[in-house]
Amino acid sequence: MNALPQETPEEPERAREVWPPRDTRPDVPEWTMPDWGVAVWRGMRGMCPSCGAAPIFDGYLRVHEVCGNCRAPLGAMPADDAPPYVAMLVMVHLIGFVVVLIFHFGLSPNMVGYGFLLLLLIGACLIVLRIAKGGVIAILLKLGRKREALG
Ligand SMILES: [Zn+2]
Repeated sequence: MNALPQETPEEPERAREVWPPRDTRPDVPEWTMPDWGVAVWRGMRGMCPSCGAAPIFDGYLRVHEVCGNCRAPLGAMPADDAPPYVAMLVMVHLIGFVVVLIFHFGLSPNMVGYGFLLLLLIGACLIVLRIAKGGVIAILLKLGRKREALG
């Protein structure tokens, strides 16, 4: 005698009916995130937007694949061209402000002065680019926009 209940054709159909339905969308974050302001501030400081306890970057702009503390998938965030775009937007306004100040006050720097301003500009670009990349990664992590695996 077989004491186990016989499987009827309706059982697999009932097994799929779950309420509330499970959210299987890929854009739902699998990691916990703080509020927008906290997450973006942590990212702009170069810290993990999720936990704030480990760095995003492994070097100047290389991103850790996962957070060393909370395992948030930092390397899977498709920042791509957004950080340079944001950095250029910020720097164009900063350069415009400096040029306006130079002409407004009638300053005329010599070649050494322009060289110094050029070095200052390069340094500012490098700093702003890193800040922008951290902020963009924080926004993408908050939105749960992981890079889809190819193939
Ligand atoms: Zn973390």
